[in-house]
Amino acid sequence: MQSFAARVIEWQRQSGRHDLPWQRTRDPFRIWLSEIMLQQTQVAAVVPYYTRFLARFPDLASLASAAEDDVLALWSGLGYYARARNLHRAARAIVERHGGAFPEAFDDIVALPGIGRSTAGAIAVFAFGAPHPILDGNVKRVFARALGIEGYPGEKKIETAMWAHAGALLPPGDVEAYTQGLMDLGAGVCTRSRPRCASCPLQDECVARRENRIALLPTPRPKKPLPEKSTVMLILQRNREILLEKRPAPGIWGGLWSFPEIAHLGDAAGVLRTRFGAEVMTEGTLAAVRHGFTHYALTITPALLRVTRLERRAHSPGHIWLTPADAINAAIPAPVREILRRLDRD
Ligand code: SF4
Repeated sequence: MQSFAARVIEWQRQSGRHDLPWQRTRDPFRIWLSEIMLQQTQVAAVVPYYTRFLARFPDLASLASAAEDDVLALWSGLGYYARARNLHRAARAIVERHGGAFPEAFDDIVALPGIGRSTAGAIAVFAFGAPHPILDGNVKRVFARALGIEGYPGEKKIETAMWAHAGALLPPGDVEAYTQGLMDLGAGVCTRSRPRCASCPLQDECVARRENRIALLPTPRPKKPLPEKSTVMLILQRNREILLEKRPAPGIWGGLWSFPEIAHLGDAAGVLRTRFGAEVMTEGTLAAVRHGFTHYALTITPALLRVTRLERRAHSPGHIWLTPADAINAAIPAPVREILRRLDRD
């Protein structure tokens, strides 16, 4: 059976891209420029910028001696301008550190401003034919699917595992065709949505295809946990009835009936005395209720309080005394209904 790399190489030769302006050259300056421009930018957008840039700065010496403003002007519209500033800085660093000759050693390439491990790998491959793996966003997608790698690729542990696969899969020869093949597959076949698996050289061995997990891989960035908030709902009980109050609109659950709320249970007696002229006996708490809003998660502690004395304020508009069974049918938020069900059961 053909190896992973052999399939990619054969496919690249037959169906990959061969006529991009930065192909068919070993000039590290041109290859480096294309790799930087292609970061976060599609080929079609890069081509005119690449051509214009080279017309103005045909080699490393001309770029190194340019004014930064001139470099940025040529980058204008391509976005991610740190790329242009780093390109310029790196050109000057190459003049200072390497006498103006683009370095061939991987460690020297990756030490230049704006060049990460994957970009350095691509330059080493295309300019010097040196076997180094690449792992950009597109290649991560191909690996995640073809090899069935679970986990968000932006996570250190997953990325490290992918680098290990990238290194292990590297062929002993033909690294240019292999590397270009991975790039071409990621850009045109194993696309984010609706990959063209029928045209893919990896279709027979692709884990995601076999297990019907293409839409699930690569694993998306985990959602940030919602901020946590908490509140105490006071369940005031008197003659088998409980007190609900109308929530102010606007605000969460505006206009619905709910239990009076406080931030800390220890404040309950004082707050109830002030607000309602109520004297209460604490009868403990029920198990907390969790409720998810779009922007935060709320933990509600229901506190049971028996009313021993009450002034008329607790009968004022916006307040209502109901049995738990009747309250369940009122316009109330879901967690209040959940608490009332528990009360009704007890
Ligand atoms: S078979 Fe489909 S999902 Fe698998 S690597 Fe190829 S294009 Fe991607």
